[in-house]
Amino acid sequence: MKRLVVGNWKMNLGVGDAVALTRQVSTAAKGLKRTEAWVAPSFTSLSEVAQCASGTAVRVGAQNVHWEAKGAFTGEVSVPMVREVGCSFVIVGHSERRRVFFEPEGMVAKRSWAALSAGLTTIVCVGETLEEREKGRTNGVIETQLLPCISSLTSDMVSQLVIAYEPVWAIGTGKVASVSDIKDAHAYIAQLWSSVHKAIACPAILYGGSVTPENFAEILKVPLVNGGLVGGASLKSESFGQLLQIAEG
Ligand code: PEP
Repeated sequence: MKRLVVGNWKMNLGVGDAVALTRQVSTAAKGLKRTEAWVAPSFTSLSEVAQCASGTAVRVGAQNVHWEAKGAFTGEVSVPMVREVGCSFVIVGHSERRRVFFEPEGMVAKRSWAALSAGLTTIVCVGETLEEREKGRTNGVIETQLLPCISSLTSDMVSQLVIAYEPVWAIGTGKVASVSDIKDAHAYIAQLWSSVHKAIACPAILYGGSVTPENFAEILKVPLVNGGLVGGASLKSESFGQLLQIAEG
């Protein structure tokens, strides 16, 4: 399994800057053997970024997707729409969607199901808040968020799934989770997975939350960490390039 470094650009970078950064990331990704560079720009940049990434090693994805193909869903975009502009993956259930926009578990599962059943690679994000961690509810939260997204998947769907463990308190805060917190959460995700899917191998699990070139090597040493979902440090070509080099080893 290759290591993934996924840049979540959130609501940052206009088209020109997103394309320029994509060009730099594709240069940095050239020749990598065990690492893939994926970028998720805002919806308005997807088309141009995908054109820029075409023929390079960089994969382009959307930060969310709706479960219906079309219809009266103001502000949403569908799987065929993101496909049409060149996306090969989507992120669903990011904590900002769950917490800021109050997307419940069932809605995230519908988004994930729609993308996976259309054969689109899907990164499902899960993770607890600080309060939930302090109350000892980390595993319970992971279970509540993950189970609806991983139940009843066909093997084709499983092959397109990526899971990201992102403790909410570590996202954009500079507070990275400890190696033992990450180890425990990833092990729990793998255990949940095998309780549902028995013999089918667990998909890649990424860690996300204040990943930087300074802490990434340590994080990658943690068992069952297959890469990083990165916000802040993916917005600069220098740090994105460093993360790719670190993942490559
Ligand atoms: C994220 O956007 O998923 C993220 C982990 O952000 P940051 O790396 O800035 O904490």
